[in-house]
Amino acid sequence: MGKKRVYTFGNGQAEGRADMKNLLGGKGANLAEMNLIGVPVPPGFTITTEVCSEYYEIGQDKIVAILKEDVEKAIKHIETLMNSKFGDVANPLLVSVRSGARASMPGMMDTILNLGLNDEVVEGLTRKTGNARFAWDSYRRFVQMYGDVVLGLKPTNKDDIDPFEAIIEEVKHVKGVKLDNELEVADLKELVVKFKAAVKKQTGKDFPTNAYEQLWGAICAVFNSWMNERAILYRKMEGISAEWGTAVTVQAMVFGNMGETSATGVCFSRDAATGEDLFNGEYLINAQGEDVVAGIRTPQQITKIGSLRWAALAGVSEADRASKYPSMEEALPDIYKELDALQTKLENHYRDMQDMEFTVQEGKLWFLQTRNGKRTGAAMVKIAMDLLRQGILNEKEALLRVEPNKLDELLHPVFDKDALKKGKVLTRGLPASPGAACGQIVFFADDAAKWYADKKKVIMVRIETSPEDLAGMQVAEGILTARGGMTSHAAVVARGMGKCCISGAGALNIDYKNKTVEIDGIVLQEGDFISLNGTTGEVYAGKVETKAPELSGDFAELMGLADKYTKLTVRTNADTPHDAEVARRFGAVGIGLCRTEHMFFEGEKIKAMREMILAQDVEGRRKALAKILPYQQADFKGIYRAMDGFPVTVRLLDPPLHEFVPHDEKGQQEMAEAMGVSLQYIQQRVNALHEQNPMLGHRGSRLGNTYPEITAMQTRAILGAALELKKEGVAVYPEIMVPLTGILYEFKEQEKIIREEAAKLFAEMKDSIDFKVGTMIQIPRAALTADRIATSAEFFSFGTNDLTQMTFGYSRDDIASFLPVYLEKKILKVDPFQVLDQNGVGKLIRMATEGGRSIRPDLKCGICGEHGGEPSSVKFCHKVGLNYVSCSPFRVPIARLAAAQAAIEEG
Ligand code: ADP
Ligand code: MG
Repeated sequence: MGKKRVYTFGNGQAEGRADMKNLLGGKGANLAEMNLIGVPVPPGFTITTEVCSEYYEIGQDKIVAILKEDVEKAIKHIETLMNSKFGDVANPLLVSVRSGARASMPGMMDTILNLGLNDEVVEGLTRKTGNARFAWDSYRRFVQMYGDVVLGLKPTNKDDIDPFEAIIEEVKHVKGVKLDNELEVADLKELVVKFKAAVKKQTGKDFPTNAYEQLWGAICAVFNSWMNERAILYRKMEGISAEWGTAVTVQAMVFGNMGETSATGVCFSRDAATGEDLFNGEYLINAQGEDVVAGIRTPQQITKIGSLRWAALAGVSEADRASKYPSMEEALPDIYKELDALQTKLENHYRDMQDMEFTVQEGKLWFLQTRNGKRTGAAMVKIAMDLLRQGILNEKEALLRVEPNKLDELLHPVFDKDALKKGKVLTRGLPASPGAACGQIVFFADDAAKWYADKKKVIMVRIETSPEDLAGMQVAEGILTARGGMTSHAAVVARGMGKCCISGAGALNIDYKNKTVEIDGIVLQEGDFISLNGTTGEVYAGKVETKAPELSGDFAELMGLADKYTKLTVRTNADTPHDAEVARRFGAVGIGLCRTEHMFFEGEKIKAMREMILAQDVEGRRKALAKILPYQQADFKGIYRAMDGFPVTVRLLDPPLHEFVPHDEKGQQEMAEAMGVSLQYIQQRVNALHEQNPMLGHRGSRLGNTYPEITAMQTRAILGAALELKKEGVAVYPEIMVPLTGILYEFKEQEKIIREEAAKLFAEMKDSIDFKVGTMIQIPRAALTADRIATSAEFFSFGTNDLTQMTFGYSRDDIASFLPVYLEKKILKVDPFQVLDQNGVGKLIRMATEGGRSIRPDLKCGICGEHGGEPSSVKFCHKVGLNYVSCSPFRVPIARLAAAQAAIEEG
C-alpha cells in the first residue's frame, strides 16, 4: 500500500485527529476532531499537505493521476452520507473546496463554494429544493468564485475591479437596487449568463460543466494559492515555512442561503480584542460563506448583550435594533442555545479561546471550522489568567500559553482604536520599535531638545540617526527615518528606550536645509504634526490620539507566576536613572550593562569629553577628565539609587573616540575656542582619529590601555559614587566591566589600574566598598581562552552584538546591503543580530562559560547584547546555564516570561 494521501471524515467518524495539523492543516485536523467529539460537521475529506509539496515537485497532471482513485472513493464516501450524487441532475451533491495550512493564514488562500453546478444541475437543484432563488444564488456565486480563483479572472492589481463585481453593479444599477439579496431569480439567471460570457471572452474557453473537471480545477487552484503573493507575504511576516504546504479539504455544502431559517456566521468563545470571557460573533440570515466578513450587508450580533453594545456604538435606536438587526439569541433562540452549548464544548475541549464558523441550513446547525483564535497581547494575557482561574489550565500551562514577544504590545503607549480608523496613512516603513507616537516634526537633535524644553511633543525625522542624535531621540515621542533596517542605529536605540520608531521609510524625501520632508508629493514642514504606529510601520498625517497602556492586575499576576518558575534572573541595560527606574518597575533585578559613553552626549559633558580626546598630552587629558569626573559620579549615583541594592555592572568606555569629536567646522571652531588652540590643530586631531575600520580599531580595553587615565577616572567615578551612597545608607554592588578583552594581559593591565585607583580612593576616603572586576566577552579569542581569562576576571558578560559581528565577520552597520538577499535565499534563516546564532555564537558562549567555570566554579555569567530580550535566545541562555540575561527595560517582562518558559519546558 502506498502513502495515505486522503483522510475522510463524517457522521461522527474521522481518519484524522486534532494533533495531525502538520499533515491535514489546521482546518482539516479540526474538522476531523469535531466529528470525533460529536459536533455536527458536513462530511468530507482532506488531501494532505505532503501532496501540496508533491504537486510543486511533479506538477498538476501527475498529481491528478496519483490522486484520482482516492479522491473518487472519498467523494463516494460523501455521497453515501449525504444521500446524493456528485454531478447528478436529479439529486446533486455540491461541495466546497477549501485550503488549510498548518498555521492559520486567514483569507490568504482560496476557497470555492457550491462546486458541482451547471445549467442542468441548477434546474435539478431547483426542483429538489423547490427554491429557485437559492439554486440560482448558489450558481452565480459558484461561477463567480470559480472564475476568479480557478480561471484567473480575479484582478491582480488591487485598484482594478473584479469583472464579476462590475457585472453585478451594472445589473443592480439597471434594476435600481442596492443589495445583492434584493436581486430576483431572473436577475440571478442574467448574472450567470453574463458571467459565463465574461469567462469565455477572457479565457477563450467555455465554463467547465463536468463536476469532476470542476473539482480537479479547484483542487489544483488551492495548491496554486499557496504560492500567491498574499500568502507568500503573510508567511514572511509570520515566519511560516514555504515547505509546509497547504492541505485541501473537500466538503459537502450546507446552505445558509436557503431562506429565513438559514444563516451563516462567525463566532468567538471569548473577546479577541480584550480577552473578556464573553461569547460573541456575527451572523447573517439567508447568506453564504464570506458574506459576513465581506461587508456587503451589515452583519448582526449573535448575543443580545453584543447586539446592545453594538447598537450603542453605532448609534442605532433600540426599536431599530430589535426590528432590523436583532441578535441571533432573539431571532433564532433555539439555534442560539445549541450554538452556545457547542462553543462552550469546543472551548473546553481545546482548552483555549476558539474562533468558529458555522452555517444554519433550514433550522439545522453545522460547524465548518474551529481554531484557537488570534488575539491581541492584552487579550492573550487575560485569557491565559482567566483559564487558570477557571481551572482549565494549570500554572505552567498558563505561562506557556503566553507568547513573550506579544507582551511588548502591553508596555508601550497605544493609539486609540477609533482615532486610528479615522487617520490618513501617508506612507509605511519598517516597524522598528512598537508603540504609538504623535508629535511635531523636527529634523535636528538640538531643535528636538529646545522644543521639548518648551513642552512640545516632537517626532524626530531623519535620513538616518547617529549617536549624536541621541539627546534628541531621548526627548522625542518617536523616531522616523528614511534609511536603515531593523538593526539600524535608530531602531536599536529606540527599542532600548522603549520608544516608537519607524525606520527605512523609503518614500521620505528629507531636505535638512529647508527643514521639509516630502512624501509622495505632500510636503510637510518642521512643526507639522504626524503620528507613527511603530507596531505596523504606518505613518499618519496629523494627530492621532494616544493613551498610556494599562498594566492590569493580570499582567502583574502573570509576571509573579513567571518568577515562581524561573531559574535565570533578568537584569536590564540602562544608562540613565530614568531607564533604570522603568526597568525596576518591569521587574529587573540589577543592571547588566551600563554604557558610560551614552553619558557624554548631553550639553556640557560632550564638551569636556571632546577636550579630553583632543588634548595634546596626558596632562591635557587629565585636566579634561577632572571636569568629566563629577558628571560621571553624579550619573552613577542616580543609577545606583534607582537600583536600590541590586548589582550594577558598569562598562568602561568602549567606542572609538572619533565618534565623540565634532566633524563639522562650526563644532570644531567651538572646541578650538574653548581649548585656546587653532582650528587647524583641532582638524588635525580629528583626522588623526579617523580609522579605516573603527569597529576593529582603537576602542574597548585598547583605549584604557593606551589612555590609562580614562580607566582611572571612571573607576574613581564608579566607586566614589558608591561610597557616597553608602554614607546615605543605600546598598550598592558595583561591578566594573572591562570591554573588548581578547588577551588575558589586556585584562590584567586594566584590572591593575582599577585596583590601584580603588586603593587610592579608599585611602583618601577612609572607607571602602566591595566590588568586582570582570570582563565583557565580545571577541571570539576571549571565548576560546576563557579558562585563562577567568584566572583574573571575576565575571563574564557576553556582549553578543560584537560577538556576533566578529564571529560571522559581518559589520552590523553594513549588513543591510546583503541581509535581505541572504534571508530571501535562506542562506540565513533569521537576522543573527536579532536572534542569537546558537550553533556558532552560542557554541562560543557555551565553551566560554564551561571554560571559565572550570577555573572559577562560581563564575557569574550573563548576556547583555540585544539578544538578552529575545525569547529563543533567552531560552538558550537558560540551557547553557548562564546566571542572568540583561536587556533593554521594555524587554524585561518578555525576558522574564521566556526564562520561566525555558525552566518549565525543561521539565
Ligand atoms: P478561509 O480559510 O478563508 O476562512 P474557508 O475555507 O473557511 O476559507 O471558507 C470560506 C467561507 O465559506 C467560510 O465562511 C466557510 O464557513 C464557508 N464554507 C466553507 N465550506 C463550506 C461548506 N461546505 N458549506 C457551507 N459553507 C462553507
Ligand atoms: Mg475559514
